[in-house]
Amino acid sequence: MTRTDGVPADAVGTDRYAARGHPDPLVVVDGLRTYYGSEKLFGGSPVKAVDGVSFEIGRGETLGIVGESGCGKTTLGRSLLRLEDVDGGRVEFEGTDVTTLGRRELKRWRRNAQMVYQDPTTSINERLTVGRIVREPLDVHDWKTPAERRERVSTLLDRVGLRPEHYHRYPHQFSGGQRQRIGIARALALEPEFVVLDEPVSALDVSVQAKILNLLADLQEEFGLTYMLIAHDLSVVRHICDRVGVMYLGKLMEIGPTEQLFRSPSNPYTRSLLSAIPHPDPSVGTDRITLRGTPPSPRDPPSGCVFSTRCPYKIRPEEHAALTDDQWARIEEFRNVIRERDRAEESLIDRLKGRLGLGRRFTPIDSIAADLFDGTALPEDVRDDLDRATELVADGELGTARTALAERFGGVCEADAPSQHRVGDGQASRCHRHAAEYDEPAALPDEPESFLPE
Ligand code: ADP
Ligand code: MG
Repeated sequence: MTRTDGVPADAVGTDRYAARGHPDPLVVVDGLRTYYGSEKLFGGSPVKAVDGVSFEIGRGETLGIVGESGCGKTTLGRSLLRLEDVDGGRVEFEGTDVTTLGRRELKRWRRNAQMVYQDPTTSINERLTVGRIVREPLDVHDWKTPAERRERVSTLLDRVGLRPEHYHRYPHQFSGGQRQRIGIARALALEPEFVVLDEPVSALDVSVQAKILNLLADLQEEFGLTYMLIAHDLSVVRHICDRVGVMYLGKLMEIGPTEQLFRSPSNPYTRSLLSAIPHPDPSVGTDRITLRGTPPSPRDPPSGCVFSTRCPYKIRPEEHAALTDDQWARIEEFRNVIRERDRAEESLIDRLKGRLGLGRRFTPIDSIAADLFDGTALPEDVRDDLDRATELVADGELGTARTALAERFGGVCEADAPSQHRVGDGQASRCHRHAAEYDEPAALPDEPESFLPE
């Protein structure tokens, strides 16, 4: 079987393992890709919002999806419901691939799969009464008789904790939590089996969050619902998810049963994400990892592993084993400076500024190289390569310098996309470190420090 999504063919078997998270899957996602701007309207490269994601969601299960803002969570949720057109891969509901459904079949299928949005104020039509808002999906799908629709709406309002007299009120008369209740009632109107909850409590006060989460849990039990719960707040997923998937830059880095994933995260990115949670007791020192550099752009994701530019566990190529950790860290910092500079130069605004003579003034690259390398005795061939790259950057050849440095210092993490490995019962992680020839990530490394003056 060949794949077109950049995942090596031999990875499919292991991907499949990771996907198999439940004996009775309702949703099967395989190699899903959703890009924005693929039509190349602006001549640039597309945003790879979701880029080769595979997993399953069991019937009656809650799968959490976590990751920093912009990593593709909402796009993933919308793609599952076919609210976005996908660029590749499959999304199967009970064996039917919904990515290929025609308009009429899609409309029929959509009754079964709904979405609850983060901000109820943007997903609710303020000019309609609460009753009309909840009834709208029933009208659209011509559900039973008008009298039965009215009855259904009253039942739903009651079930989500609103009162009958709310039927004729307008959403602006309600609090944030009540508005989210309206959104939930609306999503459940057509008795769906599957609901994507996209940060359903992120916009709410902490005291209200718990009430809404409890309501969602009760409704799940009562109606046998299957949820995909998107959150950036890890404590939310920890409470109500059976399994959790961790996304970074359009990729699923790790997936596994919730408690197991929180207790023994295997992927370097999951570890970084978890170590960023402040401990409730500040006197308990955690092994914090501060992620270095800025997150890469999904328009220009790093080659190889998408996390390679920031990974504290990146594998150092064998040929550089003799360098000290300090020397290696300095070389990495040099490369990050060049990478970020290259990105800044590429952005349209900077190009325009450049034309107007307002271009960013960077510290000359040779003085950065001097700061980083002059006091340290690097092997001659390494020093030569760094000098050559410095010259290239000084001549404006940033791309060529990046490529040359990647070939010399990149190693496997920058050369190849890692496949998914089984790292525990029902737990899988996408990292080269899990391959037999490398060491598993062990203790957390020290916080990376900068060698450059501020
Ligand atoms: P998250 O929900 O994790 O914050 P999103 O799925 O909203 O992430 O976005 C993933 C990436 O896709 C981001 O880089 C975002 O800027 C981009 N993106 C999202 N929606 C669109 C769109 N309609 N057009 C172009 N780019 C988009
Ligand atoms: Mg989002």
